Amino acid sequence: MNLKKGLAFDDVLLEPLYSEIMSRSEISLTQFLGSIEMKIPIISSPMDTVTESKMASTMSKAGGIGIIHRYNTIDEQTKLVKMCGNENVGAAIGVSNDFVERASAMLNAGVTVLCVDIAHGHHALMRHALKVLRNTFGDDVHIMAGNVATAEGFKDLALWGASSIRVGIGGGSICSTRIQTGHGVPTLQSIIDCSAISDELDVPIIADGGIKNSGDIVKAISAGASFVMLGSLLSGTDQSPGEKIMRGGFAYKEYRGMASKRAQMDWRGRVASREGVSALVPFRGDVVDIIGELDSGIRSGLSYSGCKDIYELQCKSKLNCQTSASLAESNTHVFSRGIKI
Ligand code: IMP
Repeated sequence: MNLKKGLAFDDVLLEPLYSEIMSRSEISLTQFLGSIEMKIPIISSPMDTVTESKMASTMSKAGGIGIIHRYNTIDEQTKLVKMCGNENVGAAIGVSNDFVERASAMLNAGVTVLCVDIAHGHHALMRHALKVLRNTFGDDVHIMAGNVATAEGFKDLALWGASSIRVGIGGGSICSTRIQTGHGVPTLQSIIDCSAISDELDVPIIADGGIKNSGDIVKAISAGASFVMLGSLLSGTDQSPGEKIMRGGFAYKEYRGMASKRAQMDWRGRVASREGVSALVPFRGDVVDIIGELDSGIRSGLSYSGCKDIYELQCKSKLNCQTSASLAESNTHVFSRGIKI
């Protein structure tokens, strides 16, 4: 048996390179997702505790895009899309039952991206769905699809008609797929594996699952991703759906996997395979502030590699492996001697 090792974000560090960048404002993060000009490489996840109209509008105004989740009726999802007015907005659909009707309603409501959103995207149902969607709506619609974890999966989805592909299985902060099923690939490794075929077919990688900070975003991009999809980093904010919940004098919001028991009970009234968990995450206020911090972290990251844009980072950056001692050194470590103030 040929056992392959997989690298996770914490297994690597980028080597600082000669830089002539004088200010973060010299750096451009602008790229195109199909015809959409994205000023930040960030997409919010199609989850019912992350993206409805408030998050999607805010993401679009900030220069990214949000994908409105599909765990609702077609009418409800249509209303959420229409509430975004003239913004760039995406909407998720599935691969069975009413998916064509849903896709049609979303396109009529004005979405700029359709996202075919299933847990295991390298699947016959995905092939069928992409074929039907292309036959019905033509080649001009931007169809994001996923998720996949391998180069073979990436290639197949691209050949079946996907315009961009979500890469990452089992890495999400609320995900228990690897525990429940024993399957998955560390998200960074999947990006590395898919990067050559992504270049060859000119289909962008959207790194999805397990991104904890702006450093992970810089690592994902340098490994070959063009965009990142975020759940937990955007959850617990003013713009994420759901009410604030008070516990011990502190405010929280629910953040949950769409395959968690709580989410499945809410959207289909029964639980099949449970592959996610639910959590209360600390309430963190306006997501615009969080996006601002991520944006400046990514720009700083590019300046450490001496790069003015994302393409240059993908070409020039040098990823090295780190040891567990190096990881301990990489994390702030004064708190083993002092207390946080
Ligand atoms: P996070 O940014 O690490 O929180 O991961 C978010 C990603 O986890 C989403 O974009 C999905 O790809 C994935 N995801 C959402 N719900 C579930 C689930 O219940 N199980 C496994 N993965 C999930």
